[in-house]
Amino acid sequence: MAVSRNTLALTVDRLRGNRHSDAAATDVRIPPIAIADSCAIHANVSLAKLTSFRVGGQAQWFVTPRSVEELQRSLQWAEAEGLPVTFLGAGSNLLVSDQGIAGLTIAAKELRLFQRDDERGQVTIGAGEPLPRVAWKLAKMGWSGFEWVVGIPGTIGGAVVMNAGAHQSCVADNLISIETLNSAGDRETLTREELQYSYRTSRLQHDPRLVLNATFQFEPGHDPQTLKIATNHHLHHRHTTQPYTRPSCGSVFRNPESHSAGWLIEHCNLKGFQLGGAEVSEQHANFILNGGNAVDSSRPIDRARSMVGLASPRSENDR
Ligand SMILES: Cc1cc2nc3c(=O)[nH]c(=O)nc-3n(C[C@H](O)[C@H](O)[C@H](O)COP(=O)(O)OP(=O)(O)OC[C@H]3O[C@@H](n4cnc5c(N)ncnc54)[C@H](O)[C@@H]3O)c2cc1C
Repeated sequence: MAVSRNTLALTVDRLRGNRHSDAAATDVRIPPIAIADSCAIHANVSLAKLTSFRVGGQAQWFVTPRSVEELQRSLQWAEAEGLPVTFLGAGSNLLVSDQGIAGLTIAAKELRLFQRDDERGQVTIGAGEPLPRVAWKLAKMGWSGFEWVVGIPGTIGGAVVMNAGAHQSCVADNLISIETLNSAGDRETLTREELQYSYRTSRLQHDPRLVLNATFQFEPGHDPQTLKIATNHHLHHRHTTQPYTRPSCGSVFRNPESHSAGWLIEHCNLKGFQLGGAEVSEQHANFILNGGNAVDSSRPIDRARSMVGLASPRSENDR
């Protein structure tokens, strides 16, 4: 059955082509390179441990900056070495190939911030903040708007890039602006309008830049207990409808207009289909699971794509 074509933010294929240096491939020990007192760039870091699908090769170079200054130094180092840069959040939307990622991978998980503006009902949240943590925090404050994000195992940065969404809501609904570092390493504010949001898509998917933080509008003054119940309801729904605790990168395909991608895959009898150590979930057919061993998840993805007529996965390194 042919369905509308999805846009692809970051493609599995592009990463497949990203074979990095022989040194990385042979796991030669290279000492860390200090770029600040408490920040070093490491060589050959396994990305399987840093992604929810638990597969993939190594980052040729890897750094976890804790401040804007450390970020700027990391970018300067990559520029001086002539290396490409890739950003990593919680790795819950990434499918990294066995070839790994060439250049410098910058993990944003230590970019933490939660700055509330009580007068406006706005919060500026660091890119590395985990979405479930943010959801519970806002519920406890009695600020409504993010109850639905509780079951998405990503960070604020990844959610802003992917326009993550669930239960008829998406990140763009509440977003006011983001602060980024542009390629020159300067701070820059982009408004929601400038980010050109649509279904699971943003300008940042084809014009990547590091998200430092994002400012959201919420609705203060709700009963925290009611918000906690709503948040818990969303989490419960996840656990009962998705293979939530098994290694995956969530739903692989964007939903076309006709039917959900899961429905289409299920109706091609692909539930439980296994290939290359990966399998189509019995519980939710749009989830491809890591069966536990070395996995080539691209094979069931390709099979679903060709049988159902779905276009490429949702994001690139991605689902
Ligand atoms: C069990 C499960 C359930 C899921 N359910 C949903 C769902 O309901 N709805 C949904 O939309 N998604 C869902 N996802 C997918 C995923 O959690 C979201 O897309 C999430 O927003 C990705 O965030 P992340 O931090 O993991 O990003 P990553 O996977 O690390 O990265 C995703 C993209 O964002 C970029 N990026 C990450 N951080 C930054 C940053 N600070 N600056 C610039 N670029 C950055 C990366 O380069 C990459 O292109 C699910 C995943 C799993 C495993």
